[in-house]
Amino acid sequence: MTQADFSSIYKTPDLPNHPEEILHGIGLSSGIAMGPAFMLDSVSPEVNEYKIIKKNLKLEIERFEKARERSYNQIAQLLSKAEITSSSNDSEEITLLLEAHLGMLYSSRFVRGVRKRIEENRLNAEAAVRYEMEDMERVFAELDDSYIASRGQDVSDVGKRLLRNLTDQKYTAIKNIPDGGILLSEEITPMDLASLPSNRIAGLMSLVGTRQGHTGIMARSMGIPAVSSTGSMPKHVHSNSYVIIDGAKGILIVNPTEETWKKYRRQKEIVEIEHDQATRQKDFPAYTKDKVEVLVQANLTHFSDMDRILKSGASGIGLVRTEFMFMGREDLPDAREQFAKLKAVVKASKKLPVTIRTMDIGGDKMAPALNKRFGIGPNPALGLRAIRLSLSAPELLEAQMEAILRAAVYGNVDILVPMVSSVDEIKQVRAVMESTLKDLRKKNVKVPSKLPKLGAMIEIPAAIFIADELAKECDFFSLGTNDLVQYTLAADRGDEAMGQFYNPVHPAILKMIKICVDACDKANIPLSVCGELAGDPTILPLFIAMGIRKIAVQPLTVPDVKKWVRTMNVGDFKQCLEQGDVTTQEGIDKLITAMSRCWDIDKVVH
Ligand code: PEP
Ligand code: MG
Repeated sequence: MTQADFSSIYKTPDLPNHPEEILHGIGLSSGIAMGPAFMLDSVSPEVNEYKIIKKNLKLEIERFEKARERSYNQIAQLLSKAEITSSSNDSEEITLLLEAHLGMLYSSRFVRGVRKRIEENRLNAEAAVRYEMEDMERVFAELDDSYIASRGQDVSDVGKRLLRNLTDQKYTAIKNIPDGGILLSEEITPMDLASLPSNRIAGLMSLVGTRQGHTGIMARSMGIPAVSSTGSMPKHVHSNSYVIIDGAKGILIVNPTEETWKKYRRQKEIVEIEHDQATRQKDFPAYTKDKVEVLVQANLTHFSDMDRILKSGASGIGLVRTEFMFMGREDLPDAREQFAKLKAVVKASKKLPVTIRTMDIGGDKMAPALNKRFGIGPNPALGLRAIRLSLSAPELLEAQMEAILRAAVYGNVDILVPMVSSVDEIKQVRAVMESTLKDLRKKNVKVPSKLPKLGAMIEIPAAIFIADELAKECDFFSLGTNDLVQYTLAADRGDEAMGQFYNPVHPAILKMIKICVDACDKANIPLSVCGELAGDPTILPLFIAMGIRKIAVQPLTVPDVKKWVRTMNVGDFKQCLEQGDVTTQEGIDKLITAMSRCWDIDKVVH
């Protein structure tokens, strides 16, 4: 992973003599971080509650308005900073978040609610903010939709900022962290990360959060080693404490002994040497020892990923998640706007293949304009999502198709359809593609000379069981393991509590992948795997043994994954698979262990 240079910190510091404490949790983002501990003050300021006499109500409202204006200006300042550093990796994410916070401070239900409590209940402004914030947090927390529920965090962030400004308490939090420090908090929000100059922190620990959660995703894309779910906060953090984060193993060590510190420093040096070497060789193709090529592509989740993708050595973009053009805004992007954005991606990719997916809105990815029009439904993960949504409003698909076809003029583009569950859906999309191309030609708009290839995401169990029929209508398949696991095992991919049920190597999943591989072989169409699993070194050998030769992973992991592939031997993995038992969990666990022993996993992956 790309990390800032904190080398002076990694020299053994004067480690104070506090008891070493080791906490085990979930690894959110791999890598080793070592540095001074910094406890983030994420609790809201203490506030008093008192009644305001009638003649002072106007003054109290004014006090609230001043705090609101101050909070607004602070966020606006952060926003302009984020826009200036727009080359920084996370600007898109940060901008959306800050804009949402600004909206909340403008004429929102939140602001109206606070004013009402001051005027009608004669409450002081602090208490009014606190009650309104708690009420709204409760409402959000009760919602089933994880994306909307996460807006509750935004209410809490904005509310705490208002309280700090009302009580004149300094924001003692994240901006005071020393360079190379490690953040420890009950909860680190994306907003907290957004308010940091990039490369400022070495690592982070948050008591809550899943790998699929916003903070985890941001930490990974920023290359910051991170751990969550340690069960409790460390007990012995002092102002001079040092900590170590082992992001791959999900371990937090507080007050390490000198011996532990040196052990991890050695390990960190090895990781860095390995990563440097991988980066130097990033443009070499990824052939296994027995000369089998594995194509390693990158996923583009935000347009700001482009920089990292271009530097990663990826042999193309395996998945462009176009839904991010639709999120975090009140209106819809028209065909022209989508074209401009996609054209930029395709042009920047030179002639490398770019697989553009039609929008996958719904589930945990919401677009306000579409929510307003279609509603959210009682269970969004099983509601009007992805291609079902696009086909129910043909003008949306037509606009997107126009944008993709026009962008395809500038490079090598394939089109991917998310959440396919029937052959008919692919036929309908192909018909829209053909008619859009015809219309564009009629209007003398430049279009590619031949139609882009059309593929289906295989991520709904139904698609697996009609894979043979689907393959006849598709030019390629892309396995979306994130959703396939969720829908097969009925385990929400964003819910921490479902961790033990969200098992990507369940016998049912392997059986389904096998069906998919066979269908592609029979129809002679290519198959790739996108989603987080493809970048997991313990699972990648299974995919390779099963015949998968193309994967798409997080941009930052591309050089490492290519390096792993070069140390693998497909023949060995195939032999393990032939001799293994994939019908039981015990058999699969043994198989994964056997495969890990066949290659240098411990030497190459840290
Ligand atoms: C998947 O489901 O595996 C996938 C790649 O799509 P997304 O994560 O965007 O749902
Ligand atoms: Mg998916």
